[in-house]
Amino acid sequence: MQKIILPLALCAAALPSTLAAQPSDADIAAMRDAAMEGDTLAYAITEGLTTEIGPRLAGTEAEARARDWAITRLTELGFSNVRNEPFQMPTWVRGVETAEIVSPYPQEMHVTALGRSGSTGANGIRAEIVAFEDVEALRAAPMGSLEGKIVYVGHHMEAAQDGSGYGFAGPTRWIAPSLASERGAAAIVIRSVGTANHRSPHTGGTNWADSVTPIAAGALSNPDADNLERMIALGQPVSMHLTLTPRWIGDQESGNVIAEIPGADPDAGIVVGACHVDSWDLSPGAFDDASGCGIVTAAAHAILESGIQPRRTIRLFWAGAEEVGLLGSTAYFQRHGADNHALVSESDFGADRIWRVEFALPDGASADADRVTRLLAPLRIPRSTLPASGGPDVRILATNGAPAIDLQQDGTRYFDLHHTRNDTLDKIDPAQMRQNVAAWIVMLAVMANSEAALSPTEIAE
Ligand code: ZN
Ligand code: ZN
Repeated sequence: MQKIILPLALCAAALPSTLAAQPSDADIAAMRDAAMEGDTLAYAITEGLTTEIGPRLAGTEAEARARDWAITRLTELGFSNVRNEPFQMPTWVRGVETAEIVSPYPQEMHVTALGRSGSTGANGIRAEIVAFEDVEALRAAPMGSLEGKIVYVGHHMEAAQDGSGYGFAGPTRWIAPSLASERGAAAIVIRSVGTANHRSPHTGGTNWADSVTPIAAGALSNPDADNLERMIALGQPVSMHLTLTPRWIGDQESGNVIAEIPGADPDAGIVVGACHVDSWDLSPGAFDDASGCGIVTAAAHAILESGIQPRRTIRLFWAGAEEVGLLGSTAYFQRHGADNHALVSESDFGADRIWRVEFALPDGASADADRVTRLLAPLRIPRSTLPASGGPDVRILATNGAPAIDLQQDGTRYFDLHHTRNDTLDKIDPAQMRQNVAAWIVMLAVMANSEAALSPTEIAE
């Protein structure tokens, strides 16, 4: 455990009389309701990151500028122990990306490379397309049967409030390229893993099995995938000229940005509010995940401004390098895995309204779950029976026993924007974003002050 020393300014301003003042339900309700009345800090942070920085691909100088921006802003806002915790990471960058049908219906298609895609070389690959309805159909293809071909894989992804369509369609991006390479394919294009009807394809990382040589792997926009499927249905062989030239630029620096509100009781543990500061390179990542950093930071800032010092330390964790494989999360765990994490939670699913809350708390904390639920009810957020998992960057902490709460956002339109050029500031609905901040204030205020014993439970080997 690190020793926490209260900054004098915080002591003087926040704690004029008693050290142990705890927020009452009425105090928390007042903060919650004030956040619904036009707190603009969450929006301002999202606007700042998307306007002053823009796309923030992990390992690039743009992500480094975003970290610097975050450190300046978090310091100005009055947080303590604001710092960058750097780490090295292998870095992949996008190149040229074009796709055209060369026969029998020549026309251009909109394509983007998946993260960790191999390259076609500058001249591209011209080959016949072999189409599969989904990943399982591709898996059933014999080894060596796709020699020299460009594989196409479709799927059917539905928009859903809980985002469950992603679990169904995601493997098309995560594993189909590796399966295609194993079977001899020269390259692969997939239907975008997304629910959009616009022509901006959805990027995102793909994973190569250990023995597999990475091939060029791209995603077509959904309207282009529809068009390709119509061409294939007409029955003649369809050929594509695909050029994707991404490359690896070696180990580069990334980093996690940390900021804290020191708690009054250094032994009471740390409540983590996480988000990720990196984005894919195609867009400024307003939904994914500038807004998450705005939401958790605005909520913590409301607590800082309340003048009631929390019992527990509240730690903001702006993770680096989430999109490219949770590398910031891994680095955080290596450095802080032994810290006393009383609670972990993350905002990384856009900025639309929170529609349910999930808990994974120890038995002794049921009164806290009840209190959070009671104070969230006016925001029309019911309690789910599903357990919380913590969100991507803190999941490793939750998996290792840290208590977790998930404030689940409505994902109905999330996958229209996810990892596309369309993930821009205009998509943020300030009213829904305010409801997120209000809910986060409730959760942080209750859990950072709870008297329950909250600490990572031992997970049996
Ligand atoms: Zn994200
Ligand atoms: Zn993402």
